[in-house]
Amino acid sequence: MDTYDLRQADTVVIKVGSSLVTNGGHGIDADALTNWAQQIAELKTHGIDVVFVSSGAIAEGVKRLGWHARPKALNELQAAAAVGQMGLAQAYETAFQPLNIQTAQILLTHEDLSHRTRYLNARSTIRTLLEKGVVPIINENDTVTIDEIKLGDNDTLGALVTNLIEADALIILTDQQGLFDSDPRTNPHAKLINAIAANHPELESMAGGAGSSVGTGGMYTKILAAKRAAFSGAATYIASGKTDKVLLRLMHGEPVGTLLTPDENRLNARKQWMVGQIQLSGSLMVDEGAVQALFKRHSSLLPIGCVAVDGHFDRGALVAVRNVDGVEVARGLVNYSSREVQKLLRQPSHQIEHLLGYVAEDELIHRDNMVLRRSNLRKLMSSVPVSS
Ligand code: GLU
Repeated sequence: MDTYDLRQADTVVIKVGSSLVTNGGHGIDADALTNWAQQIAELKTHGIDVVFVSSGAIAEGVKRLGWHARPKALNELQAAAAVGQMGLAQAYETAFQPLNIQTAQILLTHEDLSHRTRYLNARSTIRTLLEKGVVPIINENDTVTIDEIKLGDNDTLGALVTNLIEADALIILTDQQGLFDSDPRTNPHAKLINAIAANHPELESMAGGAGSSVGTGGMYTKILAAKRAAFSGAATYIASGKTDKVLLRLMHGEPVGTLLTPDENRLNARKQWMVGQIQLSGSLMVDEGAVQALFKRHSSLLPIGCVAVDGHFDRGALVAVRNVDGVEVARGLVNYSSREVQKLLRQPSHQIEHLLGYVAEDELIHRDNMVLRRSNLRKLMSSVPVSS
């Protein structure tokens, strides 16, 4: 696959770096924010939900604190981020308000996205916000972590968020046109690459060295982000945030940056990951009605169809779904702990609140977090003697 039509996307993650948000480091560039907000409003009218990953807190904080240069000490950078984040949130709210679009601030760490329970929590929060038409504005939680300050100016965070919500595409806006076949600062004949596979073996060497003074991420971290986004099947665009109407032009398929394509579709990548896990934390036994619903209607697994639970696990664990004969018919990430599932067996979803005192989700396993094991079921069917 070397093309991708952004118009078919349901959800995109757009990542903007500090150098764009803060106009070269001199405070937040309100005009740039207004411009992106207007383009995002248009993407939304085309049915595309947007999650915005924005850095710029440190640069804004440095300005607000009256410092003349970005400090070197991590604790000072973190302090600047805490001050600057106030301005960043305010500026985004101001940019989106005239368009009647609500924004939400989310501060995340890489750890939040690798810890299963937090992963599910972050995922459902962002999904809920998108359902309500809100544009989440995400930054790294710089007070408690330094991953992006040291490494990548939120490039990695953008990819992790893309994986988290299974976005169709990640758009990395930067101060460069895209990826060139050699360094355009030293080679006047360097050519912009329009499209390339995210797993192309020479990609990393092409990306070596580029960078700017305001943020920390060069082209290299963007390439790694594209590879990571491809892991959940997402396409990545790297394009200049200074190009007029860049988001709309990308949506209309104009070659205004570099497109990095995943090598397989999302479902396959997700399936592979789930199927590849060897240690499962437990299992849910489901009745025949539930098996039918999973396979024929591709439904989520509801508590009413679940008759027994095995093992001790927390919310977010990968568990097997077994039929009454013990055959694994599916596996997925469960929304409730084993102790909670025990209380929910054979219960309708509207009883969840009464039984647990809260509702995380109506389903035990959402269909997006589940992979069906058709081959196991087929084997089972073929071993059952056909009755005359
Ligand atoms: N989260 C930081 C920020 O928003 C990362 C960017 C940087 O290192 O400049 O400012």
